Amino acid sequence: MMRHFFLFLSKQKGLRRWMETSPLSHKFTRRFVAGETLDDALAVCARLEREKIWTTLDHLGENVTSLDEASQSRDDYLAALAELGGHPATVSLKLTQFGLDFSTDGCYENVRQLALKAREIGTHLEIDMESSAYTDRTLDVATRIAGEFPGTRAVIQAYLRRSAADIERMNQIKMPVRLCKGAYDEPASVAFAEKREVDQSYVELMKTLLDRGTYPAIATHDERIVGEAFRYVRERKIAPEQFEFQMLYGVRRDLQQRIVDLGYRLRLYVPYGTAWYPYFMRRLAERPANVVFLVRNLFRK
Ligand SMILES: Cc1cc2nc3c(=O)[nH]c(=O)nc-3n(C[C@H](O)[C@H](O)[C@H](O)COP(=O)(O)OP(=O)(O)OC[C@H]3O[C@@H](n4cnc5c(N)ncnc54)[C@H](O)[C@@H]3O)c2cc1C
Repeated sequence: MMRHFFLFLSKQKGLRRWMETSPLSHKFTRRFVAGETLDDALAVCARLEREKIWTTLDHLGENVTSLDEASQSRDDYLAALAELGGHPATVSLKLTQFGLDFSTDGCYENVRQLALKAREIGTHLEIDMESSAYTDRTLDVATRIAGEFPGTRAVIQAYLRRSAADIERMNQIKMPVRLCKGAYDEPASVAFAEKREVDQSYVELMKTLLDRGTYPAIATHDERIVGEAFRYVRERKIAPEQFEFQMLYGVRRDLQQRIVDLGYRLRLYVPYGTAWYPYFMRRLAERPANVVFLVRNLFRK
């Protein structure tokens, strides 16, 4: 119930404008967002790197309203990539930030320029997955990019009923996958509604990826599932270099530390920028108790 409420709020444009321009903005976001600027994000990446944690940078923004804005997003990401050479960092991007709502080909061209820059500095792109209205178009663009730039990662959401088939396809073309549960409000016709079903789907897909995927990323903070991953890779003798865990900046730092201490690879998703509202509301939707942290932050000096 609360989840749906926060996901409903995430789409309210007036509230978004008000929150993102509020002088209290930093107090709302500091738990989950590295800061407003690229420099803020790079400082967080450098600190994490010292703690043996890799990163993927996300310049916040989605559903841009013109192709000019999409070009601006591309330039912002090019600026970020220019700073990442030599670091164990990738970039994560949402295709609606690059014009997917207007032109699939225009979006593809923007993303291709980023892929060229990523290759030049020795890293790759991770292409986030948005709501189910975009799944086919996102996978089309992602697989076209991966055809030219191997290592490009797609995201598959375990809550979607179609995902087992998508994972088979990704495994066949040897495309790396990030497996997450899924963060959007979806109808029961396309997505499992019960947490139990989503978790079961996640574990099944995770095992398929660990057995037959190409350098998969297990993206979850679910302690039970992370424990099952530890058990499965030990049983199957899958080496720690063959996959990585991924988590969100600011979520379950205790579990992050445990993964690193056990010698597994961990990459954190580090968002930055001023367009933080939809990302932030999805984090509240995942755990409404985060509102308590939010209120505490507001009163902290
Ligand atoms: C690296 C990464 C990339 C992602 N990329 C995408 C994407 O491209 N598309 C997409 O739809 N979704 C994406 N997600 C979000 C994902 O789909 C889930 O919404 C989110 O990770 C919560 O699911 P969970 O697996 O952690 O399990 P849950 O069952 O939601 O949570 C398990 C436990 O984790 C902790 N937890 C989870 N979320 C939070 C939170 N926000 N604050 C505090 N504690 C929390 C709690 O202890 C909770 O009990 C991504 C997640 C990660 C980690």
